[in-house]
Amino acid sequence: MKNLAILGSTGSIGRNTLKLVAAFPDRLCAKVLTAKTNLQLLLQQIEIFRPELVAVFDQASAASLQKQLPAGTRVQILFGEKGYCAAAGWAAVDQVVTAMVGAAGLAPTLAAIAAGKDIALANKETLVMAGQLVTAQAAAKGVSIFPVDSEHSAIFQCLAGQRRQDLQKIFLTASGGPFRGRSRGDLAGVRPEEALVHPTWQMGAKISIDSATLMNKGLEVIEAKWLFGLAPAEIEVVVHPQSIIHSMVAYRDGSILAQLGVPDMKGAIAYALSCPERWPLQQPLPDFAATAGLTFEKPDLAAFPCLALAFSACEAGGTHPAVLNAANEVAVEAFLTKQIGFLDIPFLVEHTLAAHSGIARPQLADILGADRWARGETRRKMAAGA
Ligand code: MG
Repeated sequence: MKNLAILGSTGSIGRNTLKLVAAFPDRLCAKVLTAKTNLQLLLQQIEIFRPELVAVFDQASAASLQKQLPAGTRVQILFGEKGYCAAAGWAAVDQVVTAMVGAAGLAPTLAAIAAGKDIALANKETLVMAGQLVTAQAAAKGVSIFPVDSEHSAIFQCLAGQRRQDLQKIFLTASGGPFRGRSRGDLAGVRPEEALVHPTWQMGAKISIDSATLMNKGLEVIEAKWLFGLAPAEIEVVVHPQSIIHSMVAYRDGSILAQLGVPDMKGAIAYALSCPERWPLQQPLPDFAATAGLTFEKPDLAAFPCLALAFSACEAGGTHPAVLNAANEVAVEAFLTKQIGFLDIPFLVEHTLAAHSGIARPQLADILGADRWARGETRRKMAAGA
């Protein structure tokens, strides 16, 4: 039996993780759940999964949750970053699923590592912002980080049983998002509603916009660098619209291993919890004969400059990826609330990266400082009329 803390249990990864807990009650138990503000869903989850502890965004949410709990429900309620960090390090927990959105995932992930908990990492911002720090602390604590992102899970699976020195490069596949094939000029007027419709994956709002700009793939490049100890030149992004091949590893003899499956995140989540075992997930297999073809394209960096920006932040290293991430979070939020246009997202990220003077081997305070600075600078630029 593996006891889980699920940070971000009301989001897309969190809900899918709980489906696995429900499907494998003799193998998984949800001891800890955390959410931001979706208290209604959290209440339902508490009733079904009976966690020992939950943590929510702030004191008001905690009080509201307490009031709505059915009489006799025994669950401890914490709040705020302290609450999330306590949840991540909860004694009864064996593995922490980090599925919070954005930069908010960093502190709880570090708390989980400090407490010696293995991680199922879905919050890619953690490694984007603080890859060096997080991987060093995980190594020092003997903590394993199992990727939940489908691409990284694929790479992880294709590396199993192979020798690191035989690796030539990896291919991260990208669906291309809802605007694949459109020119830059075509993208100026797209609205959030169009960007939120992803062709192959069901995901939350932030990651759906990131998929539409290809920033999601850029963040995954940086995530891959840290997860697998790669140089940026060893990472190639290839657009594969059918999302059947989840990623590939090329070895020095020219052999390429790929991991395939239907696009459903339950597979990657389950493997991060069960590895090296594989559990019966009742997933359909791809219908190859009915598939018109598996196709591949080069990403269009002129239409989707966010991917190139992420590669350059990855090369620059230090605090640059944290700045890329923070500027992008602010810009995506502004796009979702219709304050800026779609092309303003890469414009603002590029501006903020260019204005940043980086720190080469940042400590946590440097990273958080760069994150704050980048948010301020992006907002300032936006207010000045992006
Ligand atoms: Mg992914």
